[in-house]
Amino acid sequence: MQDTHDTPGADRAGIARSLVDWTQRAHQLSLDGRPFIDGRRDGAAWAARFACISPQDGKPVTEMPRGGRAEIDSAVAAARTALARSAVPSEWADHATRATVLLRLADAVQAHAEELALLDSLCMGMPISGALADVAEAAGTLRHAVDAMPALEDETLPSRPSATAMNRRMPHGVVGLVTPWNFPLFTALAKIGPALAAGNAVVLKPSELAPLSALRVADLAITCGLPPGVLNVVPGLGAEAGQALAAHPDVDALSFTGSTLTGQRIMQTAGSSNLKAVMLECGGKSPQIVFDDFGDLPAVADALVQGFTWNSGQVCVAGSRILVHRSLHDRLARLLEERMHALHTGDPLDPATTLGPLASTAQWAKVNGFVRDALAGGARALGVYDAAAAAACHFRPLVIEGVGAESPIVQEEVFGPVATLQSFDTPDEALALANATRYGLSASVWVADDKLADHFARGLRAGTVTLMAAPQAAPAMARGASSEPVGLSGFGVEGGRAGLLTYARMRHVARLRS
Ligand code: NAD
Repeated sequence: MQDTHDTPGADRAGIARSLVDWTQRAHQLSLDGRPFIDGRRDGAAWAARFACISPQDGKPVTEMPRGGRAEIDSAVAAARTALARSAVPSEWADHATRATVLLRLADAVQAHAEELALLDSLCMGMPISGALADVAEAAGTLRHAVDAMPALEDETLPSRPSATAMNRRMPHGVVGLVTPWNFPLFTALAKIGPALAAGNAVVLKPSELAPLSALRVADLAITCGLPPGVLNVVPGLGAEAGQALAAHPDVDALSFTGSTLTGQRIMQTAGSSNLKAVMLECGGKSPQIVFDDFGDLPAVADALVQGFTWNSGQVCVAGSRILVHRSLHDRLARLLEERMHALHTGDPLDPATTLGPLASTAQWAKVNGFVRDALAGGARALGVYDAAAAAACHFRPLVIEGVGAESPIVQEEVFGPVATLQSFDTPDEALALANATRYGLSASVWVADDKLADHFARGLRAGTVTLMAAPQAAPAMARGASSEPVGLSGFGVEGGRAGLLTYARMRHVARLRS
């Protein structure tokens, strides 16, 4: 398919630098919300429609066809047909071909960075600087999936001379992907990469709040040599298209990222349909722990605030529970206030903006509800809380103190730029507070002492544990890192070789000769 989506008038070599530049580029964008099924955009006959709403100004970004059961049926049928077409000995069944196409797609994503970043920024309000960084990360997930492909090779087993025995990794078949709005492009590619690398065909249902970047990736994938039907993207609502995908009897596996409540529903639906394999990456309530042996408290404060305000706190691994040694509490509280004050709230298309709006009015109301109830219950807020003065979906960052360990704002995922602050006296108390949650996605610890660091690496209930002995703003995940959530955060490994293997099924092949 011809690439027809170049932004007219945009200087592809130059990078937009100002709010005016980015706004101009946004106006030049071709916003295409049509579904992508069997290698092409269509959806003209779909009766129902829905709109993406800009959280910055409350206006529709664009309107698009809304998939339901029948449309999911078509996409699953296209994926099944593509699998049949690509059965051995076709080229797509070959590892090297899949690797080549995925690497080309990574380059194409990178080459369309401004367009893809704009699509997410317009739909869900991520500041453009963060959205650009997200495109680079997203392209990286495709390359990481290719790096991991040697894990798919057959494992030959010792056996009798007259026999050959091996363990072979087979694709699941048709894999459904359901993704959230907080990092729309990244989450889609973090699943598409390993699902395709493992030889599956995919039907993706992106979030209704921000489906445009994933649809655009499907266009790019075709130009990179992906056979039609191998990747299908159906825009629609969770209760309609998402539910239909989870219930579909011809979907072999489903990988979901989103809230714990939806994850629970999906698991029930999958269980009562065809026992499809399910992987769930759900919510989190991650601790950031600060010990008193760590010298550079101002640098820690920078990292802590970044940890719960990045993407306006709409991050599954947001460090939304700060636990500090009591001796540092007052100093840290002052530093946190200063740093929250310095964040630049504004238009997501302004490169100076570090704190964009929350993604929707519903998200704003949810975040505000947690804060309002905590304050009504006697909690104190560090930072400026004035719900009445809030513009559109913007929410100023807050640290909440004086709350009990059972309080909803400590226990529930707020998904906004809000953290709680609790003090501890001993390492045991810190560990108990950190683990006093039903979630288990991530944890970070600022600690100089290696023995204590190791004690926490073992004792924390979390899929990812980051232990910092020197100031770090946003520690990057190592290439090849694999992690699996704990408790209500879900299950199923993501990332690295182990993450790729969740998209494959083990088959034992024995050949007995006479
Ligand atoms: P959500 O659960 O509301 O929606 C996620 C996706 O599920 C959307 O595409 C939605 O349309 C779909 N969906 C909704 N109901 C469905 C149903 N009944 N059947 C099938 N699909 C359905 O989550 P959200 O608000 O889009 O995203 C925020 C949540 O995602 C947070 O809880 C966050 O922690 C989580 N998240 C987790 C990770 C992780 O890696 N663990 C990463 C990013 C986001």
